[in-house]
Amino acid sequence: MRQIGHFIDGENVAGKSGRTADIFNPNTGQVQAQVALATPAEVDVAVDSAEDAQRIWMNTNPQKRARVMFEYKQLLHKHMDELAELLSAEHGKVVADSRGDVMRGIDVIEFACGIPHNQKGEHTYGAGPEIDVYSMRKPLGVVAGITPFNFPAMIPCWMFGMAIATGNACIIKPSEKDPSVPMRLAELFVEAGGPKGLLNVVNGDKEAVDALLQHPEVKAVSFVGSSDIAHYVFSEAAKYGKRAQCMGGAKNHGIIMPDANMDQAVKDILGAAYGSAGERCMALPVVVPVGEGTAERFLEKMLPAIEGLRVGTSNDPDADYGPVVTAAHKKRVESMIDTAIAEGAEVVVDGRDFTLQGYEDGFFIGPTLLDHVKPGMTTYHEEIFGPVLQIVRADTFEEAVRLPSDHQYGNGVAIFTQNGRAAREFADRVEVGMVGINVPIPVPVSYHSFGGWKRSAFGDINQYGMEGVRFYTKTKTVTQRWPEGETEDSAFIIPTF
Ligand code: NAD
Repeated sequence: MRQIGHFIDGENVAGKSGRTADIFNPNTGQVQAQVALATPAEVDVAVDSAEDAQRIWMNTNPQKRARVMFEYKQLLHKHMDELAELLSAEHGKVVADSRGDVMRGIDVIEFACGIPHNQKGEHTYGAGPEIDVYSMRKPLGVVAGITPFNFPAMIPCWMFGMAIATGNACIIKPSEKDPSVPMRLAELFVEAGGPKGLLNVVNGDKEAVDALLQHPEVKAVSFVGSSDIAHYVFSEAAKYGKRAQCMGGAKNHGIIMPDANMDQAVKDILGAAYGSAGERCMALPVVVPVGEGTAERFLEKMLPAIEGLRVGTSNDPDADYGPVVTAAHKKRVESMIDTAIAEGAEVVVDGRDFTLQGYEDGFFIGPTLLDHVKPGMTTYHEEIFGPVLQIVRADTFEEAVRLPSDHQYGNGVAIFTQNGRAAREFADRVEVGMVGINVPIPVPVSYHSFGGWKRSAFGDINQYGMEGVRFYTKTKTVTQRWPEGETEDSAFIIPTF
């Protein structure tokens, strides 16, 4: 059985705890590897190595840091196929989708190549009599990134890409369900010329996370995962005096206005609801047809589209989506469908009994469509994170604004309409962090920033872009003058200019 340890100080090292977690092949249901679960002592070793590397790196000039990021970006492009296949084999998403996962990670590394410009401070010449003021953005030191299973390439890159470019060292604690890609990303960083110890990967579970949260030398924690854990990590980080950004779960709504181009909306929602088996925090698991007859027109086109979906193994080039990540997750999604029906939702397409011939033990779920879902149902309130689309019918535009605004999550939302005025008003008023207008998955590009509202994100600063630069740096402001001649008398009032 393949054993996955940790990546510390530029080396793959075996785990010492004796505790491991199984990694499955989601296509077959078989265990394909085991990953070590670190002890606090192993976390300490990773932090020590990161501290040593960071002391030198923080004094490495920004062009040199950028050059390492640039070499790394080139190397990631070269390894795209290998990374995408490795990712699909553990996660279950189809290889084309895994390439997208890697590419969105590379985008952040590419943004990080511009760090000499983006980490510049500010300067005011002559802020007072012969007084100049300048500020600089200093790295924090050693930071940690705790990542979820569903984007094992992109999300670690959001964190270590920005952290390292700004002069920090980073320890990634990946999901124990699919840690191989983060491990490989760290190996490639060293191959690209990245100093050893600057990017360490410690595998583990709550024990490793707690050790990182409690370690005095870990200065900031970036987390992405489910909301309860995000909130826990955020509170613990605050308790131990650390900066934290903790992204949580989601329940994104796709609003279909009566004037929407229905053919396009159906195509967009099909991909956004069922792509990656619905295991995306920016998926569209809720559709809100607005006005009389809109739901019927949507169903008329959506049903044959669902019929045409191909569920297959993660390495089937013709599959639209693959299995979910684990048997436990499959069971949870299926029980959410049971609950939805018990709560009064109408099951229009039922994916619970789906099996893929030759892969009967794989973690496959067929596409599911539930109609007449209503606020107040637990399966509307909770995230399902599977290939399940829920229809919540709305009578008016006001109701369509209110539904996502009142929901506990506020990650993403999309509106499909041909009316610019309605779209503009919707984007302005909706209480959600990322809005798509005729764009189903509005994940912002790497030079903007990513972050939801409400229980989708705890903390104030978004991931990547200039927000990433701010998260991983602290500002120091210097006020200086170089007086000549006699010294002045003491001033007992606060200086004003
Ligand atoms: P998860 O919360 O189970 O795990 C995330 C990380 O937390 C993993 O590294 C895991 O090992 C660790 N963890 C789990 N239990 C812990 C505990 N009790 N104490 C400390 N650490 C613990 O999430 P997941 O199932 O890997 O990922 C799916 C979730 O992530 C979904 O809710 C999804 O919406 C969310 N997500 C959010 C975003 C976003 O940006 N908002 C992006 C991707 C995924």
